[in-house]
Amino acid sequence: MPTYSHAVLDEIRSRIDLVDIVSQFVSLKKTGQNWKGLCPFHTERTPSFMVNPAKGIFHCFGCGVGGDAFGFLMRQDRLSFPEAVRALAQRAAVELPEERGREGDRDREDLHRAMQLGLEFYTEKLWAPGGERARTYLDTRGVAPEVARRFSLGYAPEGWDALLSFMKARGVAAELLEKAGLVLPRQGGGGFYDRFRGRLLFAIKDVQGRVVAFGGRAFGDEPPKYLNSPETPLYSKGHTLYSIDLAREHIRAKDRALLVEGYLDCLMAHQHGFTETVAALGTAFTAAQLQMLRRYCGEVVTFFDADAAGQKAAERAEELLEPSADGTAWAVSRSGSFGDGTALRIRVALLPAGHDPDTLLRAEGPAAFEACIAASRSLLSYALDRALAETRDPSGPRGRASAFARVALMLSKVSSAEEALALSREAALKLGVDATQLWIEAQRLQSARARPVGPPPPAAAPATMALAERELLCLLLHVAESRPLLLPLVDDGDLVHPALRVILAGLRLRPDAAPATLMSDLPDDPERSVLAALLLHERDWSDAPTVIAQYRNRFELKRRLRRIREVTRAIAEGQAAGAASPPAFEAELLALQREGERARGLTLGVSAQPEKSDRPSGPEGVHTNG
Ligand SMILES: [Zn+2]
Repeated sequence: MPTYSHAVLDEIRSRIDLVDIVSQFVSLKKTGQNWKGLCPFHTERTPSFMVNPAKGIFHCFGCGVGGDAFGFLMRQDRLSFPEAVRALAQRAAVELPEERGREGDRDREDLHRAMQLGLEFYTEKLWAPGGERARTYLDTRGVAPEVARRFSLGYAPEGWDALLSFMKARGVAAELLEKAGLVLPRQGGGGFYDRFRGRLLFAIKDVQGRVVAFGGRAFGDEPPKYLNSPETPLYSKGHTLYSIDLAREHIRAKDRALLVEGYLDCLMAHQHGFTETVAALGTAFTAAQLQMLRRYCGEVVTFFDADAAGQKAAERAEELLEPSADGTAWAVSRSGSFGDGTALRIRVALLPAGHDPDTLLRAEGPAAFEACIAASRSLLSYALDRALAETRDPSGPRGRASAFARVALMLSKVSSAEEALALSREAALKLGVDATQLWIEAQRLQSARARPVGPPPPAAAPATMALAERELLCLLLHVAESRPLLLPLVDDGDLVHPALRVILAGLRLRPDAAPATLMSDLPDDPERSVLAALLLHERDWSDAPTVIAQYRNRFELKRRLRRIREVTRAIAEGQAAGAASPPAFEAELLALQREGERARGLTLGVSAQPEKSDRPSGPEGVHTNG
């Protein structure tokens, strides 16, 4: 990636007017030193987007974004920094000190020119005499001529060299056409022939609207039904979305993208007003495609037909949960994957059996399609249901255990804690298990995967924590008034789980802290995950005073018993040595015993109060270590 000196960047900034640049996208009005308009980066009715041309900066008081001209273009046109610099340098007529890569740029320009000429040739043929077959086909598929033009549909005539002759007359070398994927070399001899013959052509364009590939549809049953451009320097299949050039502003405006499979699905959707539709051009959409959409919106709705849908959606979701080849963790909610920390919501819309978007729109119209979108569900939630449905006998203990394991594994791959929490709640409800246990198991699997090499975790670390330990920490976290009463009494030895000890230590240091703020005090991920789990735990604490009293009694009793043992031992040792027991010990022992009697009375008083029997909490199961 080229780097640019401050001098060059300053030179560019000084030569451009930010108001000019922003005005291409936003209607601005002068107010004092600033210009004001509706923010292009969030939806608003009253302008809070300001441009200060003197300082060359913009800022939105609504959504908080701001920056300079480079930042504006990067955000508005989704350019990388070097791309924004190049765009503005050109505008400012500043020469950039980069000669490297020029050769490659020239090659690409030639390819773009060849593709553009090809597009002109094919679209002209569609509407010219001789294109009747293609036009009839469009008619039978219900494609309006206006839509066909908007999408630059074309027709590749029969014959082996229609395009070649056209290009030859314009001085375009056949070798360049081969590189562009438009022609193929003849076998066993010189010369080339047209790749696309006797087909309807769909122009695949990049974000800037430049044609990079073609998809050719046969009119009859002749194989292949679809013939596509090969991968070229301009075209990489999994990284391209059909009609992204037409849809992107609508996707941005509606903050959602509809992702369909085929060309005609996409055309029909646009024709019926769903102008935020793009096609993945394959049965499976890729992470790269979703990442492209993430630039423009927060939600993607994918479509599956009812028959194969479940399987496909579930498989897709689980695949997407695997880290991508380039190492970026790509989970269904992409927090962190894009640097801006916002998530892309992927939803699954189920189409009625036997329908794809094309047929549904033609048979039932846009309202039916919109209803499918409205009924769409989160992809992961969908996959979760599949996992549960595939478990044999989920109500039995065995089936439940295997579903628990599978769901925990799935959850462990979700990178967004928020989404994982929501899903563990949902799954726990469906499985009839404890959400916290599910979450903790998922966290355990996640950290196990995080270090695939190296020694296994120390055997001393318990995988699960005792219910009572967890309940105690929950009480301390959720009920602030329990802390001054219980923290002095809790012995660290009362807790077996190491993460809980760390959280307890954090609470001792800042007993007044709001529980969520303890997060930043915790050193490591496992502790933070456990804390998240405890904070997730929802419980009615109206009985807190009772529970606190029970814990107090329990800890008081433990303390007393410990002291009684100590004093008794001291007295016994003294007697064994032939010395008389010190009167102080005798007195303490007596006091401890009286204290115990009083406490038992108190305990009886407390347990005489009505108590919820469905609550598994209470001090009865508190770990007693020695
Ligand atoms: Zn804004």
